[in-house]
Amino acid sequence: MTDLHFTFSTVDIIIPVYNEEEMLPLFHGMLCETVDALPHSFTFYYINDGSTDGTAAALERLRAGDTRVVIVEFSRNFGHQAALTAGLDRAEGDLVITMDCDGQHPPALIAEMISLARLGYDIVITQRQEPESLSFLKRLSSALFYRLINWIGDTHILPGGADFRLMNRTVVLALRSMREYNRFLRGMVAWMGFRTVILPYQQPPRLAGTSKYSTRKMFRLAANAVFSFSLVPLYISMSLGGIFLILALAQALWVFSLWLRGASDQLVPGWSSMMFILLIVGGILMISVGLVGVYTGYIFQEIKHRPVYLVRRETEKKPTADEKTIADPNG
Ligand code: UDP
Ligand code: MG
Repeated sequence: MTDLHFTFSTVDIIIPVYNEEEMLPLFHGMLCETVDALPHSFTFYYINDGSTDGTAAALERLRAGDTRVVIVEFSRNFGHQAALTAGLDRAEGDLVITMDCDGQHPPALIAEMISLARLGYDIVITQRQEPESLSFLKRLSSALFYRLINWIGDTHILPGGADFRLMNRTVVLALRSMREYNRFLRGMVAWMGFRTVILPYQQPPRLAGTSKYSTRKMFRLAANAVFSFSLVPLYISMSLGGIFLILALAQALWVFSLWLRGASDQLVPGWSSMMFILLIVGGILMISVGLVGVYTGYIFQEIKHRPVYLVRRETEKKPTADEKTIADPNG
């Protein structure tokens, strides 16, 4: 920590929010407590991801009390990854930090993340240390997911990596150029490279409310991770097809040899074994066609070039005191 070469003046924090009205004042208080002790100029981008509770009003109250708050409101719920993308599209700071507003990404880590950036790291990714309280099922599914994605994909994705990370301006601009519709930001950031450092942290429980990541949303994210990062499932189904073709050839040769030897009367057709083969081959065919179908679906979604999110309303970034003096020297 002796050689601090890099200085940053502006830091943007991107916070996706979905039905978290009771959380927001508490979270914002914690955030301010941390950032007010730091020498940087902060902007907070709160992305309201189509909340249906009082989140919009709660955000307005935050903005009324803090000019650093920017609100972006989606036209509907587009999901966590889309909300993060909207923030990244708007961020102008030298450094950008993305984090959840439920207290599970402790704001107290921000100071450490920035000091790592000052040491010359382009990306600081945080790694969740699984808390004791986490259910066995969640722990198992997370372990299996990372095992699978790292086994079949070319990009190594950090197990327990969170969407709580810091990126410098260069990285944000690079990430902004990747406009795929099905997004798994953890994978996309890993794919980019850059100088990356891992910061482990203990994940505290939620401040209030329940998880907004439904099982369905979790599965969709996992599917995006698998299918947008790997062609291996297709190769597996092709290899299985190849193996069955070879087996079929071997069987044909065997039957032919029986005919040649005049022993074709041994060929009493066994109904059960035939059904068995039929079912297996049928099953494999269906799986293979299904896999091709999934990839086709992904391609279809990508070529439509739909935007990742739609904004209903967004507030202006209010000028800071310094900027105000430059714009209007008398005011
Ligand atoms: N979130 C969002 N859109 C969604 C679901 C979640 O913007 O469709 C936000 C949510 O408000 C929170 C963050 O994403 O700030 C992470 O969600 P959550 O804490 O529910 O996920 P978990 O920590 O349980 O994985
Ligand atoms: Mg959470």
